[in-house]
Amino acid sequence: MENCVFCKIVRGEIAADFVYQDEEVVAFRDQAPSAPVHILIIPCQHIPTFNDLQAAQQDLLGHLLLVAKKIARQENIQEKGYRLLMNCGRDGGQEVNHLHFHLLGGRPLSVPAYISPS
Ligand code: AMP
Repeated sequence: MENCVFCKIVRGEIAADFVYQDEEVVAFRDQAPSAPVHILIIPCQHIPTFNDLQAAQQDLLGHLLLVAKKIARQENIQEKGYRLLMNCGRDGGQEVNHLHFHLLGGRPLSVPAYISPS
């Protein structure tokens, strides 16, 4: 997609601090980190949102998740823990319409509002 910022990163038209790259997936540091480790893991192909993911792409989805685990080890946050999340759509807080996981860690993360004590 011509105007997608993450597609531009994949094509090398916008600089990014890459931590992982293969033929299907790239990962780079978020430009506005909300934790000491804040990495975005994205497919090279343009998939706008989680809603657009097709059954034929389940291997790609699995690969994205395993890359996230590999990066967590690489960043030394595997043992202490981390958060892997994906925003979907406007209400989900998705700002960039190119499917991506956020990998967050390096400090204790606050308990999200949706986990309310019973
Ligand atoms: P989301 O709200 O889930 O769509 O998250 C998009 C994320 O992309 C935000 O955390 C932004 O800080 C990050 N972001 C946007 N543009 C860039 C960029 N050029 N390089 C690195 N991170 C970016």
